[in-house]
Amino acid sequence: MNNKIDTKALLEIDRQNVFHASTHLKQYAHGEMAGRIITHAKGIRIQDSEGVELIDGFAGLYCVNIGYGREEMAEAIYEQAKKLAYYHTYVGHTNEALITLSERILKMAGQGMSKVYYGMSGSDANETQLKLVWYYNNTRGLPEKKKIISRDRGYHGSSIASGSLTGLPLFHAHFDLPLERIKHTLAPYYYRREDDGMTEREFSKHCADELEKMILAEGPETVAAMIGEPVLGTGGIVPPPEGYWQEIRKVLDKYDILLISDEVVCGFGRLGADFGSIMYDMKPDLITVAKGLTSAYQPLSGVMVGERVWKVLEDGTDKWGAIGHGYTYSGHPLGAASALCNLDIIERENLTTNARDTGAYFQQQMQATFANHPLVGDSRGIGLLHALEFSSNKYKREHFAPNLKVGPQIAAACMEQGLIARAMPHGDILGFAPPLVVDRGDIDEIVARAKKAIDKVTDNLVNNGSWKAA
Ligand code: PLP
Repeated sequence: MNNKIDTKALLEIDRQNVFHASTHLKQYAHGEMAGRIITHAKGIRIQDSEGVELIDGFAGLYCVNIGYGREEMAEAIYEQAKKLAYYHTYVGHTNEALITLSERILKMAGQGMSKVYYGMSGSDANETQLKLVWYYNNTRGLPEKKKIISRDRGYHGSSIASGSLTGLPLFHAHFDLPLERIKHTLAPYYYRREDDGMTEREFSKHCADELEKMILAEGPETVAAMIGEPVLGTGGIVPPPEGYWQEIRKVLDKYDILLISDEVVCGFGRLGADFGSIMYDMKPDLITVAKGLTSAYQPLSGVMVGERVWKVLEDGTDKWGAIGHGYTYSGHPLGAASALCNLDIIERENLTTNARDTGAYFQQQMQATFANHPLVGDSRGIGLLHALEFSSNKYKREHFAPNLKVGPQIAAACMEQGLIARAMPHGDILGFAPPLVVDRGDIDEIVARAKKAIDKVTDNLVNNGSWKAA
């Protein structure tokens, strides 16, 4: 279909000109690692310039929730572009798509959300969150109350402040991050909990106790907010242990600390609910959304502000005048039009319900296939989000030596089977987050391909003497 493209020549131009995200810069530029030109995509499948077709088991970067190649989306964007491709939203300027979208998503989010500010990415939305929290406490006459608590393994972006919120060493090392005001508490990572004797509930309480210890050590008068993903995503796809968010919220309430729910992955259906914060009853003060808001057909993110915070922000502008925050593309009409069409599709095709029901089947099939596999230490997830965590000794939950690169080896083996699953950046964890349009047949195919890949790597590890089953 795409055989007219000279892949080799184009990739050479790419190597000479493009700076790629999350890439070994030298190896890529010098042709020591492969590149791939993606040319087409439809439904849950993408195709490259050599005609290779892959099932996208990670929906891009867990964002193409409605699947690829929706003409309806292209038309909605085209119609909006013909009518109004752009006008800014400074000093009260607005557009129809934005008005309709804002009312709709605030209603979906509920939980006292009052206003929404727009950006282009999850990272910039979380930057906005921090500025709002700082402005909030300055307005309240609490200029010392500025620290933000995030979590180890959290992922909140890769810009300076959002990258500081991220709790993965790779995003800090050699960039002089994190910023000093940002602290990280224990991740709710029950699989390798600190004390083997703890039940899930006890571990949740333990996480809340650790949070409280940190708040007391820093001084509650200096801590402004905590940020967390309802289900930890990039840090390893970790659903919270039972009762976790209730325990956390209790501690935050005790010390007048706001809660930001980062729903960039969890929002708009991925877990089988509209929002993770609703599912886990987090009672957030602020919510971050992106990815699933437009299914990535246009870049768009949002910061939802609860009424309690909003009132204070309003008072701030009474004191100091117009708020000093704004992006050229905030409230972009093409983003808003694509979000509206995306939400129509999600609603009309019951994709959130599908994420719940087909998601339950997915969880069940992954568990049934992999829980007893010698290489798999943990198989966990919710909705259409799942992780397989590999362990060199599953009974002792031991780590493989990092130089074996077991996670990346398995992701590469999946690719050979025509399946994209993501080697998560921390630990030997393989992530799955297919588009929300998958059916049971697709799930069977994904599981079967993953099984072949994992079996193959298992055999290789055994045959080359680098591992034997416990
Ligand atoms: N927050 C969460 C939970 C994410 O998973 C991501 C990206 O994966 C971000 C924020 C950052 O979003 P972006 O890459 O659009 O800046």
